[in-house]
Amino acid sequence: MNILQGTKVYSIITGSCPVCQKESMYKESNPYKLSQTLKMEERCSHCGTKYKIEPSFFYGAMYVSYPVGIAFAVAAFVISNLILKLNLIVSFFIIAGTMIAFLPVIMRISRNIWINFFMSYKKEEHSS
Ligand SMILES: [Zn+2]
Repeated sequence: MNILQGTKVYSIITGSCPVCQKESMYKESNPYKLSQTLKMEERCSHCGTKYKIEPSFFYGAMYVSYPVGIAFAVAAFVISNLILKLNLIVSFFIIAGTMIAFLPVIMRISRNIWINFFMSYKKEEHSS
């Protein structure tokens, strides 16, 4: 994981602050605590970056969740139909199940991608 540190991929996968990547943007690290899935810190306690740039900033993440959801659906299809050779109807239910099971992850990844469109990693001058 450390190889990716400093890249947008790292922030997107870990949900860490897009600017310093020192801490998580989310109050609860487990996305499957559904009441907490989208609860985010106001700002980064390390670098002070405000995550919510404007009041409805994260509504834009909905546009990102669409292609992210499709990516999960395609992955589920490839595994169930092409690799496990299950028939199309079974594959369909596996895809639907995958989408539901991964929804909290998809929602977070979408937000992480969205905020990384607007912010970039800045390496600290005084790195330890
Ligand atoms: Zn930060």
